[in-house]
Amino acid sequence: MRTALLACVPVGTLVDTESAAAWTLRTGQTVTSVDLHVDGRLRADERTASTPLRALSLPLVSGAGVVGVMAVEWTGEMSRASRAAAEELALHVGLAVENARLTVRQLLFAEELAEKVAAATARMRELDQAKTEFLSVVSHELRTPLTALQGFSELLLRSTLPPERARRCLVYLHTEACTLGRIVGELLDLSRIEAGRPLELRPEAVDLDALMERNAELFAAEHREHRFRWTPTPPGSALQADPDALDRMLKNLLSNAVKYSPRGGEVCISASPASDRPGMIEMAVEDDGVGIPAEQLPRIFDKYVRVAHPETVATRGLGLGLSLVKALAEAHGGHVEVESLPGKGSKFRVLLPGVERHF
Ligand code: ADP
Repeated sequence: MRTALLACVPVGTLVDTESAAAWTLRTGQTVTSVDLHVDGRLRADERTASTPLRALSLPLVSGAGVVGVMAVEWTGEMSRASRAAAEELALHVGLAVENARLTVRQLLFAEELAEKVAAATARMRELDQAKTEFLSVVSHELRTPLTALQGFSELLLRSTLPPERARRCLVYLHTEACTLGRIVGELLDLSRIEAGRPLELRPEAVDLDALMERNAELFAAEHREHRFRWTPTPPGSALQADPDALDRMLKNLLSNAVKYSPRGGEVCISASPASDRPGMIEMAVEDDGVGIPAEQLPRIFDKYVRVAHPETVATRGLGLGLSLVKALAEAHGGHVEVESLPGKGSKFRVLLPGVERHF
C-alpha cells in the first residue's frame, strides 16, 4: 500500500477546482473516493490505471468554521484505525490552527492596546506640560499688569503728585486695567471654546466707520511711536455682526500690529467690500513690522503659538489672540487671512459675510 498526505492547506489556497480538496473546502464535508481514476465527480490525472487510487479529503475545522483541508491519497485498503487516525489528525490540525489564530489575535490586541496606552500616556504628559506652561504664562501675564496697578495706585494714595504726574499715573492705571480686562476676556472666550460652547453673538447693523475711528484714536493715544491711518469705509460695506466681537477682533489685530513693530511705524486699518471675495466685507489691519516667516504662517492661528523673533522677545502674550480672532470670525460665518513678509510687515484680513449673504 502506498499512502501520501498530499496537502494540508488553509482556506483561500488555490487548488484544482475539481479535486476532492476543493470539494471539501466548498462544502465543509468529508469526501471519500474509492478510486480517483474512475470517480466521475472528480478529475483524475489518468483514468485507466490498473490499481485503484483511494482518496480522503477531510475539513480542518476550527471555531471560525472550515479553515482548511487535509487530503490523503493511497492505494490498497485503508484500515478503520488508519482512517480514524487521519480524522483525529485533521481534528488536531484544526484545533492547532484555531489556537494559533487566537494567539495571533491576542498578540495583535496586546500590541494595539500597548500602543494606545503609550499614545494616551504621552498625550496626557503633553497636556500636563502644556497646562503647567500655560498656567505659568497666564500667572506672569496677570501679575505684570497687577503689579503696575498696585504700584501706581499706591503712589497716588501715598503722595501728593503734581497734576501732570498724577495724570500720567492714571493713564498707566487705565492701560494696565484694560490689559487685565483683555486677558480675562480672552481666557473666558477660550474656556467657552474648550468646553465646546458656541461663542455668544448678538448680531446687529454695525457702524464700521465709528468702530475704526474709535480704535484708531484709542491706539494713537496710547502708542505715540506708531502712526495709525484709517481709511473711511466705502458704501456697500453694510455688516450685521456682534459689535463687541468686531471690537475685540480689531483690538487684537491692532495690539499685535503695535507689539510686532517694536521700532514704531505705520498701522493702516480699513473696512470695505472684499474685491476678491464677492459678498464679503473685509476688515484689514496692516503694519510694517517684523513680519512672519512663510513656514510659520499656517500655525499662527493655533492656540499658544508664538513666533520667536529677536526684536520681540520681550513682547508679552499668551499666543491666544489670533486663535480667538479666528474663532470669532468663524462664528460669524467668515474667516481670517494673513499675508506677511519678514522684515516688511503683515496684513491681516477678517472676512465676514455682507448683509446680502448673511448667516
Ligand atoms: P500673542 O500676541 O499673545 O503672542 P497671538 O495669537 O495674537 O498671540 O499671535 C500669535 C503669534 O503670531 C505672535 O506671538 C506673533 O509671533 C505672531 N504675530 C501676530 N500678529 C503679528 C503681526 N502683526 N506681525 C508679526 N507677527 C505677528
